[in-house]
Amino acid sequence: FNMKNIALLGATGSIGMNTVAVVTAYPELFQIESLTFHSNSEKGADLIKMLKPKYVGVGTEQMKKEFTTRFPEIEFGVGEEGLIKAATLESVDVVLTAVTGSVGLNPTLAAIKAKKDIALANKETLVMAGQWVMEEARKNEVRILPVDSEHSAIFQCLYGQKSDNLKELVITASGGSFRDLTREELKTVTLEEALNHPNWSMGRKITVDSSTMMNKGLEVIEAHWLFGTDYDKIKVVLHKESIVHSMIVLKDGAYLAQLGPSDMREPIQYALTYPNRLPIQDEKAFDLTEISQLNFKPMDFERFPMLELAYIVGEKGGAFPTVYNAANEIAANAFIDGKISYLQIEEFVQKAIWNYTETKEVTLEEVIAIDKQTRTIVERWIKEEGLL
Ligand code: NDP
Ligand code: MG
Repeated sequence: FNMKNIALLGATGSIGMNTVAVVTAYPELFQIESLTFHSNSEKGADLIKMLKPKYVGVGTEQMKKEFTTRFPEIEFGVGEEGLIKAATLESVDVVLTAVTGSVGLNPTLAAIKAKKDIALANKETLVMAGQWVMEEARKNEVRILPVDSEHSAIFQCLYGQKSDNLKELVITASGGSFRDLTREELKTVTLEEALNHPNWSMGRKITVDSSTMMNKGLEVIEAHWLFGTDYDKIKVVLHKESIVHSMIVLKDGAYLAQLGPSDMREPIQYALTYPNRLPIQDEKAFDLTEISQLNFKPMDFERFPMLELAYIVGEKGGAFPTVYNAANEIAANAFIDGKISYLQIEEFVQKAIWNYTETKEVTLEEVIAIDKQTRTIVERWIKEEGLL
């Protein structure tokens, strides 16, 4: 196992900090060559002191100025340019994309073109432009290694399997913060309640996405691109314990599952050590006899329309998943900012999809334009109709 030089995009976030925990446990194996953060200067400064990267991407020119004075030995960059430079640094072997949202796309594409392997947490990138990301990866012979726990589980189960043995993928869903509420009860839920995920501690946007089941919808599309699996062979089951992280079903009916505690360090580390494994420091307690029961239930598309919509936009292809993702990014963040009610997230995502009718083949440039356009439209709706 060779020493790996890592670019960590989104170092101050939930995945970012879990990655820092993995990396600092094995200083002889991992080195953070570059990192980025957006607004959290305090955490960012701590990480710079601890990890001593060569290059750091920050959110604003002002931050760059301040940090250059504080850390004159380090080079700083701003915004997308900073993300791209961090991801393409000559000495970097693997880029861990832990930024949230579609800002991940251009740095990921640039990294692939620079022949860096990608450890991908930023699922929005694959939903927005999966076809082009995977095409570039094939062309440049780089690996896209999943960090998302469900996809890591599937990736682990697929290890050593011939691809024609596979019958289907089964993604598990915890159900998020509101899994036991009816649609009527969803009308009055608050941000605070949405952010209270039963099993995982994560960033705000993905926690809201988990409660709307948008996160699972994004994951279905992510799985389609990562594993090249048709949508009718990707199933989702409700599994409230989050112990089985996902499963594969083989031709002969055998199920292979990956189980473990809810600890993102495991999939992060596997993406960095694949196909090798290392112990995890201060492992979380995990005792199946104490858990004693694992429950599985079918997903209710009427209760969770965002999941059904993922299959619809996925099958339609083209820029439909792009619209689905962009509308949700704007709407979920507007809910987090108190500008719209909870159910308006779904409403605006649905409306954006109805509003988009084009079905012809699209280019990457068109997809990026459609992403922008969708954001503008949904922002306008939020101004006009938010919290009505
Ligand atoms: P967080 O919100 O915790 O962290 C986001 C990171 O991205 C922070 O470092 C933040 O910087 C940075 N960032 C935010 N906005 C921008 C921007 N406009 N430009 C550049 N950087 C930005 O998110 P998570 O860690 O929870 O999630 C990250 C990604 O991983 C998401 O795509 C999510 O879906 C995925 N994921 C997360 C899981 C989890 O357990 N958290 C599990 C599976 C997937 P700053 O804080 O300095 O502003
Ligand atoms: Mg996941």
